Amino acid sequence: MKASRAPRTRHTTNTALRSLPAIEKLLESPELIPEITLYTRPLVIEATRHVLSELRDRIREGTAPRGEADLPVLIRTRLLLEWPGFMSGVINGTGIILHTNLGRAPLSQKALEAVSNLGGQYFNLEADLKSGGRGTRASELRRLLSRLTGAEDAIAVNNNAAAVLLVLVAMANGREAIVSRGELVQIGGGFRVPEIMEQSGVKLREIGTTNHTTRKDYARAINEHTAMILKIHQSNFVQNGFVGETSLSELSELAAEHNVPLIYDLGSGAVIDTAEFGLKPEPTVQQALRDGADLVCFSGDKLFGGPQAGIIAGKRKLIEPLLNHPLMRAVRLDKLSAIALEATAAVYLNRTATLDIPSWRMMSYDLSALRLRARAIMRKLKACDIKAEIKEGLSMVGGGTLPEQSLSTALVSLTPTGSAEACARSLRLSQPPLIARIENDHILIDMRTVFPEQDDAVAKVVQRAMNRKN
Ligand SMILES: *Cc1c(COP(=O)(O)O)cnc(C)c1O
Repeated sequence: MKASRAPRTRHTTNTALRSLPAIEKLLESPELIPEITLYTRPLVIEATRHVLSELRDRIREGTAPRGEADLPVLIRTRLLLEWPGFMSGVINGTGIILHTNLGRAPLSQKALEAVSNLGGQYFNLEADLKSGGRGTRASELRRLLSRLTGAEDAIAVNNNAAAVLLVLVAMANGREAIVSRGELVQIGGGFRVPEIMEQSGVKLREIGTTNHTTRKDYARAINEHTAMILKIHQSNFVQNGFVGETSLSELSELAAEHNVPLIYDLGSGAVIDTAEFGLKPEPTVQQALRDGADLVCFSGDKLFGGPQAGIIAGKRKLIEPLLNHPLMRAVRLDKLSAIALEATAAVYLNRTATLDIPSWRMMSYDLSALRLRARAIMRKLKACDIKAEIKEGLSMVGGGTLPEQSLSTALVSLTPTGSAEACARSLRLSQPPLIARIENDHILIDMRTVFPEQDDAVAKVVQRAMNRKN
């Protein structure tokens, strides 16, 4: 028996090995075209070699699964696990509108069109078309931002951290900046006010207490070494109970009395009123300037809804020295972001921000519309025996803005057959990846941050991921 079986096994093994396709053949298969586009040809070849060699080993050992292997799927899985960081679009089901890990604000169609139109050709980034000589970089961007915020002048740099750094170095190096103890904040990973001060060579003059800082505290701290009063928006946290801060207008009076500039790091950068969306009013850039801030610094990709950038708006006599500072060159805005920022500013001037800028659009969806979309997805899932229901929940604005503020939303809630973590992982490793929330062993997909045109993809991704596991 034994003797007769051995040659047969060897025969089957050889047939199985011979039936494996050649690499070149596999690479021609249309199923792998998207993989080659995303991962490049050499990386796909590497993954294919790996998959084939593993399969050969398993055939020889007799542990290969019966039937023909789905090679493109094996190759795709290998690529995904080996190179998970290749940038690809994901579906944001988290309900966090400005999700820092997912690139904060998605750009408006207007900004994208401007980038694709100008990015591939020469354009007047720094050329003065009137004189034919060198002009200021993105000069009309300055004027647009000024007009929009009501400031005398405005410039844009790499991000808001760079904006604050530039202002501190250029205006306060070797001298003191007065900051309330309640405003020595940390924003996300890495931006910590005391550390940025240290890096700028500015002496931090802490005043008041964690929960209370009065006008008197500020007044007492002003001396001949004072370079500025720096007010920082608490951005990502809220203080409750016995708290008190000195308002911007009070500070503005005090600063004027002592002839000290008042700088406001606003962070979030709303130029329209968040109260219109049922949220707590976030201080707007315009209001901060009206209240008397000499300079306001804010991010381009938080509530402003544009590209990564830091904008400094305010008094011309304070902005002009920044332009000529040696650090300016190191923190300047790159050309693609300048194009996108100019187009985003134009959207605000045209007063179409709530239509054109995705993050504002997402904030304005009402619950009934979200519920309808969730219901349509749920029906599709139920049709393939996936346990899904609609729940109500809360979306967040995110990006270190409006903490504790939320918008009512509709959620598609899934009951995974296995662990919720495993199901969430499987959704993340889908194509396109779907990022969801986990709550009480359920998977929640928040419709507010899913673009409506992605609804079909949500249903498909969930079907594939959940049926694979079942
Ligand atoms: C977000 C934020 C920053 C950092 O801005 P980036 O654009 O992320 O560099 C600085 N200060 C405040 C108050 C912020 O909210």
